[in-house]
Amino acid sequence: MKLSSLFGKNKTVFSFEVFPPKKDSPVETVYNALAELAAMKPEFISVTYSAGGSGGSGEMTVELASYVKNKLGIETAAHLTCLNSDTNDVRRVLENLSEHGIENILALRGDINPDVPPHNDFSYASDLVSFINNQRFNFGVMGACCPEGHPESEDLIADVKNLKKKVDAGAEVLVSQMFFDNTKFYDFKEMLRLADINVPVSAGIMPVTNKRQFERMIILSGASLPAKFTKTFSRFEDKPEALADAGIAYAIDQIVDLISNGVDGIHLYTMNKPAVARKIMDSVRSLL
Ligand code: FAD
Repeated sequence: MKLSSLFGKNKTVFSFEVFPPKKDSPVETVYNALAELAAMKPEFISVTYSAGGSGGSGEMTVELASYVKNKLGIETAAHLTCLNSDTNDVRRVLENLSEHGIENILALRGDINPDVPPHNDFSYASDLVSFINNQRFNFGVMGACCPEGHPESEDLIADVKNLKKKVDAGAEVLVSQMFFDNTKFYDFKEMLRLADINVPVSAGIMPVTNKRQFERMIILSGASLPAKFTKTFSRFEDKPEALADAGIAYAIDQIVDLISNGVDGIHLYTMNKPAVARKIMDSVRSLL
């Protein structure tokens, strides 16, 4: 089933994101996490892709997405990046996804790695979207968006103009980068409307549940951190349990507000932590 068909039915599409395990962590943990997440019956679970700078076969992404779809019976989207791949690499991944019955791809450019010179076949995610749509397969294609602008963009207007190219190339649904200030998301949605970008946008929500994650958030994400967010986290930074509870409560608060404002979808960055997703789902299920 193409995931775009889930949207536009007057309800919020709730989805989860997981990542393949790091090389040094046991594979079983992600399978256990997936089983727990699937039991919460999200509309779909997406699996991230790590090109690893080598062209990347994405085998683990395909394996996990296949497990979600074929063993757990939940729809899935496989992420796929293109910057460090050539057309043959991408075609191989597409074949592999198709053979496993995976029907949806979140098409991404990938981050620039200064140590790895990119291939020249794809410069932007929109190139990948076009490429996928010009193959013999029939994938549903989604793309990423940044409510506060991509860090490499001159400004948000330039980024939205580029986003339009991605949607015109065939991205049927957009999934947003994490944000912590809902007003930024609402302003962004208004900009999309003015730019005639009319596809559904799922809001990316990241529950920040520990100090390391919080510090990374400040350094890495371009997302603005409202005073309510920073105050809460500074207050509880040395109390791990309280910090986790506060992070979950903040995410729930954001989600309630988004659903009340008619958001198309919520895409929860689960960080492979089903216990966190469970607490959030338990609090918002009746709203869905
Ligand atoms: P693009 O849409 O190509 O945009 C990148 C930059 O190029 C932007 O500044 C844009 O304005 C500009 N641009 C786009 N088109 C043009 C054009 N035609 N001309 C000039 N400029 C242009 N990374 C991973 O490695 N693996 C993952 O699994 C993964 N999953 C993600 C999931 C989500 C929901 C999100 C939001 C991000 C994810 N990322 C992932 C990170 C992503 O790869 C980075 O954010 C990357 O830097 C940009 O990817 P993009 O697809 O948004 O790129």
